[in-house]
Amino acid sequence: MSDFAGLRALVTGGASGIGRATADLLAARGAQVAVLDLDPSAVEKPLIGLRADVTDDASVRTAVQDAAEALGGLDILVNNAGIGAQGTVEDNDDAEWRHVFDVNVLGMVRTARACLPYLRRTATARPGTAAIVNTCSIAATAGLPQRALYSATKGAVYSLTLAMAADHVREGIRVNCVNPGTADTPWIGRLLDAAGDPAAERAALEARQPTGRLVSAAEVAGAIAYLASPLSGATTGTALAVDGGMQGLRLRPA
Ligand code: NAD
Repeated sequence: MSDFAGLRALVTGGASGIGRATADLLAARGAQVAVLDLDPSAVEKPLIGLRADVTDDASVRTAVQDAAEALGGLDILVNNAGIGAQGTVEDNDDAEWRHVFDVNVLGMVRTARACLPYLRRTATARPGTAAIVNTCSIAATAGLPQRALYSATKGAVYSLTLAMAADHVREGIRVNCVNPGTADTPWIGRLLDAAGDPAAERAALEARQPTGRLVSAAEVAGAIAYLASPLSGATTGTALAVDGGMQGLRLRPA
């Protein structure tokens, strides 16, 4: 249980869902972990909770600096904070498009920009340990109905992952992303609660999954941890699907 002993990680959106499961897993495996979130009030020791909004460059810079000071540096960035949006291109106005891009894309850019100087120091001092993992989505590469804005932001996260991987590979910083399918997090819980019959909606959602169940937050965290760890040392510029076979499988009707 010590793959991450001595490593220092920052997880954005780490107070809930996939981010929280990732922060808990990295800490259980020996990492020191700071969590950057809009609301870190539920973040408990040994995690370090830092309040910041990824749409606010100054607050991101301050939180990253505080994290690096508290942990004595940074080896791993998990760029995970994100929000959803529903509808076709006719349903979201310009302000909504700007806001969701601000959180889901620029939020990752701002956090990476603030972390890169620390990761560069790690890459020099401890070769093979500096890594960024972005939480993308199957929405980046599948045509999901009623998700135009959300899908466009995740398409941008996918391209950003590839471009950053190319820019920083010679510095010894790896950059990858995970593409979760429908993962059982408070976010999905809120969507189901908003439906008329949450239990029936959940059953219908599960029936659409090749595995017959939703992906768990812990399973996405496992993929993030692999891409963040030296075990994936030769892997950069990739997207790892964690979707219960949603994109890869072509199942015959039962
Ligand atoms: P969640 O709502 O449970 O957690 C998201 C966290 O991000 C929350 O703690 C929230 O406070 C934080 N956050 C939101 N906006 C922020 C901001 N401006 N600044 C700082 N923190 C902010 O959601 P989740 O399901 O765990 O999603 C996490 C990531 O996984 C997102 O990027 C999402 O797009 C992606 N994802 C989720 C699913 C899914 O089915 N749950 C599928 C594919 C991708």
